[in-house]
Amino acid sequence: MMLPIFEYSSLDDRARESVLSRPAMDNRDDIISLVRETIARVRNEGDSALLDYAQRFDGGAPVNLRVPAAEIDAAVASVGPNALAALQRAIDNVRRFHSAQCAPRLSIETSPGVLCERIFRPIEAVGLYVPGGSAPLPSALIMSAVPASLAGCERRVVCSPGTQGGHIDPVILATARLCGIEEVFAIGGAQAIAAMAYGTTTIPKVDKIFGPGSAWVTAAKQLVAGDPDGAALDLPAGPSEVLVIGDESADPSFVASDLLAQAEHDPLSQAILLTSSRALAERVRERALDFRRSLSRGEILDQSLARSRIVVVKSIDEAIDISNAYAPEHLILQIADPRRWIDRIRAAGSVFLGPWSPEPMGDYCSGANHVLPTYGYARAYSGLSVSDFQRRITVQELSRDGLRDLGPTASTLARLEGLDAHALAVDLRLQALRTSGTTESTSTQADDTVIKLARPAIASLRAYEHAHWDSRFERLHANESPWPPPIEPDGERLALHRYPEPQPKALIDALAANYGIASSDLLVTRGSDEGIDLLTRTFCEAGRDSVIVCPPTFGMYAVAAATQGASLIEIPLNQDFQLELSAVKSSIDAGAKILWLCSPNNPTGNLLNSSDIDSILDHARNRCLVVIDEAYAEFSLLPSWITKRASYPHLVILRTLSKAYGLAGARIGAVIAQPSVIKLLRKIIPPYAISSASIDEAIRVLGNASTAVIQSRVANTLAERTRVASRLLSSPLIETVYPSDSNFLLLQTRDSNTVLSRLRDIGILVRDFTGRGSLGQAVRITIGTPEQNDRIIDALCSTSIGSRSQ
Ligand code: PMP
Repeated sequence: MMLPIFEYSSLDDRARESVLSRPAMDNRDDIISLVRETIARVRNEGDSALLDYAQRFDGGAPVNLRVPAAEIDAAVASVGPNALAALQRAIDNVRRFHSAQCAPRLSIETSPGVLCERIFRPIEAVGLYVPGGSAPLPSALIMSAVPASLAGCERRVVCSPGTQGGHIDPVILATARLCGIEEVFAIGGAQAIAAMAYGTTTIPKVDKIFGPGSAWVTAAKQLVAGDPDGAALDLPAGPSEVLVIGDESADPSFVASDLLAQAEHDPLSQAILLTSSRALAERVRERALDFRRSLSRGEILDQSLARSRIVVVKSIDEAIDISNAYAPEHLILQIADPRRWIDRIRAAGSVFLGPWSPEPMGDYCSGANHVLPTYGYARAYSGLSVSDFQRRITVQELSRDGLRDLGPTASTLARLEGLDAHALAVDLRLQALRTSGTTESTSTQADDTVIKLARPAIASLRAYEHAHWDSRFERLHANESPWPPPIEPDGERLALHRYPEPQPKALIDALAANYGIASSDLLVTRGSDEGIDLLTRTFCEAGRDSVIVCPPTFGMYAVAAATQGASLIEIPLNQDFQLELSAVKSSIDAGAKILWLCSPNNPTGNLLNSSDIDSILDHARNRCLVVIDEAYAEFSLLPSWITKRASYPHLVILRTLSKAYGLAGARIGAVIAQPSVIKLLRKIIPPYAISSASIDEAIRVLGNASTAVIQSRVANTLAERTRVASRLLSSPLIETVYPSDSNFLLLQTRDSNTVLSRLRDIGILVRDFTGRGSLGQAVRITIGTPEQNDRIIDALCSTSIGSRSQ
């Protein structure tokens, strides 16, 4: 009987088991011994055995085992534009979903000085098998070829039987081309698996074989996977299956079509409906038998529908329990509010939610992988993903202090296990450390850990060799003009015909002295804007890494991330403009490369809580660079984070001469970080980044003669900030003046248009933040000269609400 209906409650345990049992697979022993012979023959005779098998079992022996590029070109031309566009769309979606699966490297200090990492390396050579049969299966190729290329597998070899007189179906060849695969071989069956596992003259040996196939192909994959000289396999195979859970809200035709879509795959396919509605059970059965009459694969359907079942259960809850025990390859939930049940699902290959998510969408083009564990393997296996094409390698490194601390634990455990050579390997080193008595400088160890966060391409980059910098020589080595510009400025003439010193030592020394650090810890940049860009480009791999920003904040962090192709994780500040600690920490745990903090923050003006930053710095150690942008530090009374750098090797600080020092036009900023980070940044900063004019002017302003002037200007700004804030509080246009530790005030206005237009009327521009995130009608006003501030106060504190220009 096709699609019998059972009442679950009326079955005893044995009957329940039998109703939900899977069909037995073909007699394995026969197949295995035949396949063993095939493998042996391919290993002995190589290509000639392949040609013979192709003649006997595929659609004829191909002229060339390797499909010539011209044949692939012709295949692409012969497949119509509609088919090509559909293939491309499917490839794009699969690529989109799978590229997000590329995991960042992991680096954790498990105890002080003990570093454990996990890195990924592509499996160099993979074999992708595509079965023949009555119709081509391009989706089978897409599902393995796309993750293989994302994983970085260098050699991707496709084998598929030449079904048409030794020729592979053009759709498969066109798909291979769209997936960027060049090595395609016209050979199918167990012999193709043997050829890829061991290699022949023509077919390269691979390390792992992917793709579905007949019972012979499956047996061959198992046999070669059991041989260390063979090739690993992707997933244990079994007939495809679906389990649908439906309630009274389900459309019987939709459910019936889902069961049939599965059942038409193979006589051994199984389709199961669990439903809480007897009425649905009967209507689905009726609809399925109706549809079956008009479907083309009648014979297969008759066999598989005989193995398929409809089971009436007492509730959806019970259905989910049964499904978890069955662990279906495909699970379809055609029930009210299906997402509500996701947390209850324990075992399934892939889940399809609601009436508009039929399984073929996942088979072809939603983007999820359709290679899934079947036949109950979903209890322990998962569907194909990028990591199946990669090796996961762990790396461990202990510092002297790390070994001194943890070594005795290993030694104790080794003795417990009676392995005294293990204990010796540790004890010898502990002894050597006791004799030498040295404690390493923590910074070297820490240095290395932070450098490991950098993009490998930058770490191994050879820096551009700029013209050697030595002022003792006459310089004919940099293609400069020997003459200065013709128009002489007043006063001393600047040597603008010469390239400036790449990282100008005198300026670096002046900045380092100003910030109380060593010169080796500082890079001069074109404003801190350039520092933001350099850090992003050094640490974030495009398409792979992410950065965290906490808006509202300075916009360049996000721009730099987008420019570099890094993804942006936004964790908005809370109502008090402070960090959401746990969300920031979770994003660090998820592998973000850089956390951008701005304190005092622009545009909110406040300092971030020091205890929050401390706790984040502890959490992020060795894993994530924490950059604190202190563009406005001179206007706050708290000490700079520069003083904490010794404790936090992953802490980077940005400073600028654009604000307190009045040098915005000179474009001078500084990145302050440990020397190894500075060295990396120096590799990619353009060779002569800072102009000679800026260097000279900055050195002058940082000199002793200017210090008093700068200090009194800052003091004036602070006093004015207090005065303007208190005066504006009495303005009918202003609701709140937020506390500020910077040289500006953020105001929450009652009517930002009026505030802006009143200030425009007196010739003053301020910055409007209306509608930006949580900022309401906020306006940011820079503290100007006392005279400018007076005009602002006058304009905003007049009693009439409404623009003066109206
Ligand atoms: N960081 C913050 C927080 C800023 O507000 C600014 C400029 N407004 C910058 C960095 C960039 O400054 P500069 O490039 O001039 O140093």
